[in-house]
Amino acid sequence: MASQRRPEWLRRDIQVSRTSNEVYNIIDELSLNTVCKEANCPNRMECFNRSTATFMILGRVCTRNCTFCNVSKGEPEAVDTEEPRKVAAAVSKLKLKHAVITSVTRDDLQDGGAGHFAEVVKEIQKLGQAITVEVLIPDFDGDEAALDKVIASKPDIINHNIETVPGLYSKVRPMAIYERSLELLKAVKDKDSTILTKSGIMLGLGESEAAVINVMKDLRSVGCDIITIGQYLAPSIHHHPVIEYVHPDIFEKYKGIGLDLGFKNVVSAPLVRSSYHADEVLSDK
Ligand code: SF4
Repeated sequence: MASQRRPEWLRRDIQVSRTSNEVYNIIDELSLNTVCKEANCPNRMECFNRSTATFMILGRVCTRNCTFCNVSKGEPEAVDTEEPRKVAAAVSKLKLKHAVITSVTRDDLQDGGAGHFAEVVKEIQKLGQAITVEVLIPDFDGDEAALDKVIASKPDIINHNIETVPGLYSKVRPMAIYERSLELLKAVKDKDSTILTKSGIMLGLGESEAAVINVMKDLRSVGCDIITIGQYLAPSIHHHPVIEYVHPDIFEKYKGIGLDLGFKNVVSAPLVRSSYHADEVLSDK
């Protein structure tokens, strides 16, 4: 287990600014949730200062129990049918060029919330301001009809995190299935190859380098275009412990390996998160 003291490359000192306060106010006024806040993301001040945020729809309570995640687990909240319109309003007020939408997992809903995701995408597209939309979706319990709803709404990027290596799933992501997550990413490409696919993995949970490279190869085998690689940070002592603080040189190494494997983009560094600087990924293309 890694020592509690974080290495210098993981320490951040970002000031609250007028811009970040504006972002907070807009999100609060519209009673929206962000994964930035719910997951206690270390980058949120930087992102808010850049007027970006990742909206978390379908409530703040998840039906799964991933041991790395800070999001509340338990009895999910009622779905806010006004949320698609409110998210679009926030995107407009924040003048976002790239909107990222994620959610808790809602195994309690018939389509896992897929229809609600599609509504959010359509409301943002209705703004007609060439805003690109990225959805970071759960696995919808492998329900293809649910996934089809999201694909049909034509987001620019469909992101689904593989999170860790298959050997650690039982400890880290017990209600998920590695192959099911790969199949989801493959289905998107098979059904609409104009949509970019993206996935992400955390390091420092006890994975081996060979296992990480195998995950990257598996993702490329299902046509995944973009991968994010970041350091796992335990939200509390009750969460999965940090086994290792991986050195930035290793992240650089994975970046090189990923580009050699054919990813269009590899965003790999200790503080990288799924939607960190997500807007830049498209501008690089
Ligand atoms: S499914 Fe997502 S939101 Fe739910 S516990 Fe796992 S990582 Fe957290």
